[in-house]
Amino acid sequence: MNLSQLRLVYYPDPRLRKRSSPIETIDQRLADVVSRMFEIMYEAKGLGLAAVQAGLNWRLFVTNTTGQPDGQRVYINPEILQMEGTVERDEGCLSFPDLYAPLTRAQYCKIRAIDLTGSAFEEEATDLLARAWQHEMDHLNGVLICDRMSPAHKIASRRQLKHLEEKYGTGPATSGSRRGPVARKR
Ligand code: ZN
Repeated sequence: MNLSQLRLVYYPDPRLRKRSSPIETIDQRLADVVSRMFEIMYEAKGLGLAAVQAGLNWRLFVTNTTGQPDGQRVYINPEILQMEGTVERDEGCLSFPDLYAPLTRAQYCKIRAIDLTGSAFEEEATDLLARAWQHEMDHLNGVLICDRMSPAHKIASRRQLKHLEEKYGTGPATSGSRRGPVARKR
């Protein structure tokens, strides 16, 4: 695998809809993929990235919610063990440029995962990091923010979703609508 071929995958790429498979081998190749994932995430100014967003249907995601080098986290074969409370905040996704919607998530989470040395660990988080975990776990299960939006927000985002479908979709071009107005950026 050529790492430079790993690029950010945008909605409606069908890979984003697949359930990702567990990782069986933790080796240098995986460490290299993780490095490339961090590059993609930082380039796009994101807080988290699931492997599927780099085109690999693997149960792996990375986060950095502090923006500092020591804020980097790697979660291999993660499971959320516990969730508590609810909080609604605007949430976006690197695979949906410029789209944000208020989503309700648990305020607290406990997660279990494996790190790059092959050791299992458990971690607790609230708010931003807990939200990032829930968002990335959704990616591993093929669930996207447009599935979590309220019906009203889905309707409000219809134009932006259609714009992404036209820009990044591989389906037949719908003639005429391609020249339509571009969704307004927020
Ligand atoms: Zn996302």
